[in-house]
Amino acid sequence: MKFNTVLLIGAPGAGKGTQGKILGTVPNFYHCACGEVFRNLTVESELGRTFIEYSSRGELVPDEYTIRLWRTYIENRTRSGQFRPEMDTLVLDGLPRNIYQAKMLADTLNVIAVFNLTCPDRSKLVARLQRRALRDNRLDDANVEVIIARLSLYDKETKPVLAYYGPDLVRTIDAIQPPILVLQSLLAMLPRPA
Ligand code: ADP
Repeated sequence: MKFNTVLLIGAPGAGKGTQGKILGTVPNFYHCACGEVFRNLTVESELGRTFIEYSSRGELVPDEYTIRLWRTYIENRTRSGQFRPEMDTLVLDGLPRNIYQAKMLADTLNVIAVFNLTCPDRSKLVARLQRRALRDNRLDDANVEVIIARLSLYDKETKPVLAYYGPDLVRTIDAIQPPILVLQSLLAMLPRPA
């Protein structure tokens, strides 16, 4: 059975996590942030060390590793009853981050909408990430060079994912708006439950 899924796509700092968390509090929605899954690994584990190695350089963790880790995570959440695929819509943030990951997930996800959170003004994103570095103590947000690397990686690797899913599924939202207005747009464009 494929998971009914809403994807949140956007550059680092666009607000995927902020919106995903809110949607995840609505009954029958389950939010999963791929970066959080990685950050919850401990540095004592080899997987955790691999994550730090790649993310501190602003790079993506290798695809096979990412997908394997995510599958294990979502299987555990399903087994524990936190995610109920037969009734919940999965709100996925930070995955897929390139076309290869999208193809690997094609047998698992039934994508019903793709929200494209756009912010053409890079300086606004950099400022948001620098604030987050202090608040959340995130290493990958603390260094401007790493931030720039992640923003260009987004343009090169993740943006093509929008074309992969195609215009019928993609809904574009201005991510510069205050969070409440982004949420309003998102809710207005969310497909009606069957
Ligand atoms: P942001 O979108 O702000 O960069 P995330 O918390 O989503 O923050 O991701 C942090 C880091 O985790 C990424 O820079 C990357 O190294 C790693 N990561 C997250 N999701 C993926 C993914 N799908 N594939 C590979 N690496 C990922």
